[in-house]
Amino acid sequence: MKYRKMGSLDWDVSVLGFGCMRLPTKKENGNEVIDEEVAIKMIRYAIDNGVNYFDTAFPYHNETSEIIVGKALKDGYREKIKLVTKLPIWRVTKREDFDNYLNTQLEKLQTNYLDIYLFHGLSKRTFELVKKYEFIEKMEEAKTAGKIRHIGFSFHDSYDVFKEIIDFYNWDMTQIQWNFVDHNTQATTKGLEYAASKGIAIVVMEPIKGGFLTKTTKEIENIIENAPIKRSAASWALQYVWNHPGVSVALSGMSTLDHVIENIESANKSGINSLSPEELNIISDMAIRFKTKSLIPCTLCYYCQPCPSGVNIPKNFGMLNELLWVENREEFIKYYDYFAKTKEELNESRNNGNAALCVQCGECLEKCPQEINIPYELEKVHLVLGEGQEFSKVFKLFIRGPKIVEKEAFQIVGIEDVGKREKRNVPQMWAKFYEIIYKVQNRDGSHGLGISLSSKELLKKGEDRYIVAQEILKVEIIPEELIIEKFPAQKYAVFTHLGKLDNLGETFDFIYGEWLPNNSRYERVPFAPEFEWYDQRFQKDSDTSELDLYIPIREK
Ligand code: SF4
Ligand code: SF4
Repeated sequence: MKYRKMGSLDWDVSVLGFGCMRLPTKKENGNEVIDEEVAIKMIRYAIDNGVNYFDTAFPYHNETSEIIVGKALKDGYREKIKLVTKLPIWRVTKREDFDNYLNTQLEKLQTNYLDIYLFHGLSKRTFELVKKYEFIEKMEEAKTAGKIRHIGFSFHDSYDVFKEIIDFYNWDMTQIQWNFVDHNTQATTKGLEYAASKGIAIVVMEPIKGGFLTKTTKEIENIIENAPIKRSAASWALQYVWNHPGVSVALSGMSTLDHVIENIESANKSGINSLSPEELNIISDMAIRFKTKSLIPCTLCYYCQPCPSGVNIPKNFGMLNELLWVENREEFIKYYDYFAKTKEELNESRNNGNAALCVQCGECLEKCPQEINIPYELEKVHLVLGEGQEFSKVFKLFIRGPKIVEKEAFQIVGIEDVGKREKRNVPQMWAKFYEIIYKVQNRDGSHGLGISLSSKELLKKGEDRYIVAQEILKVEIIPEELIIEKFPAQKYAVFTHLGKLDNLGETFDFIYGEWLPNNSRYERVPFAPEFEWYDQRFQKDSDTSELDLYIPIREK
């Protein structure tokens, strides 16, 4: 096993951490329960082979994960590892809840102390609860009492919120979602590096995106087969995380002994900055393919469960997402019949209700770290799986996202047109741009930008500005047809338009007609630049083309 420093803590921690949220399960009296014997065998195998970081939480596996972990850590195993669990912050209603939960968790885990106690899944809203109930002081009291040794938080929100929380306290560690598909969302790479620069240990959760990054297509398999180094899809994903010098532990939620064996082998081959530029290119190639293969960004974390109406939310979303991958969709859709359709059926097969059982109570909304509009998506799931409506009509297959991205200040070199949009010849602008841009040094040629800008004066005349451009890293003398312009740091909602440009108008209709008007959190920043981002994924007139649209936003 390879070991790393755990931020500023004096620990040698295994690069592979065992996440106890996806332990093996079996059916018992119609209920899905942890297969205790197999789970204990897996946990002990991992410890015997060098894994020394274990992560669990109060709600995992219907509140039974901590109990099984406690059993597995008997017979001297507890002393060999660092044990971490979390306060379910969204459930607290009073200050005393802190001690009630902590004492219960210590009892379930059969231990006197936790190596780290985390606030579970902090966001803008739940961080207010930490402040309201003065829970940092409670953490410090627990530390003085010897019940916990270190203090941290896991996180699901945007970079701004992450930075605010990081700056609020002298944390020992933070646990963030980060993988080769999601490195620009939630805390983002920038957040990871900011926290690491302060000596805070970084534990990465969802390095394989809940197993999603192992579900390959023929295209992805080809990339893996033709790679110079032989690795499984899971191993590529884990190596990406371990490659970053700021990361101490990659947590994997392992469900079989084979997963444990494979991940340990992979960890043994890990290293900081050990991936070559060629390997990083392979990963970025895979990332592009994976991004086109998920309609609902559900990571199957089960935080939204149980649903009071019995809807098995992750299973419904998982099935819908899988529909994109299967060859014979009609056959596959028949499995939806196995979900309970009525309350009576639910009594026989609990927690496995179909999407139509959702009564839109909204109870699940705050629990979802991916901010999925669960009842809204469930309605669409049922239209497709239950009522047989056409997949491509119900889901907007020509758009993906948005992801929320913080873009740093940048400057561009480009050709500008000011005037009426309908009179503009954009292809001609690009042609002219490419005729002269090669003369400019120090520009980033990996992508082009089509930037739209407006102002009150231009708006009155029914005009706007459009610049075709590339980013420039250092300003120098440029041909006189070109302009240079600077743009400040800004938050953007990034939508990816999929396929040909024919229905680009529908994508904009969705953004401006549905997404922005119905968004309770974000609004567009007036007159800030909006731009199209063209990179190697863009292929004119191709069904597999991708084009990113950056819409400037701010919190309402
Ligand atoms: S909104 Fe629907 S899925 Fe969510 S908790 Fe309520 S009934 Fe369940
Ligand atoms: S819907 Fe959200 S909370 Fe529920 S399993 Fe998926 S990602 Fe997790």
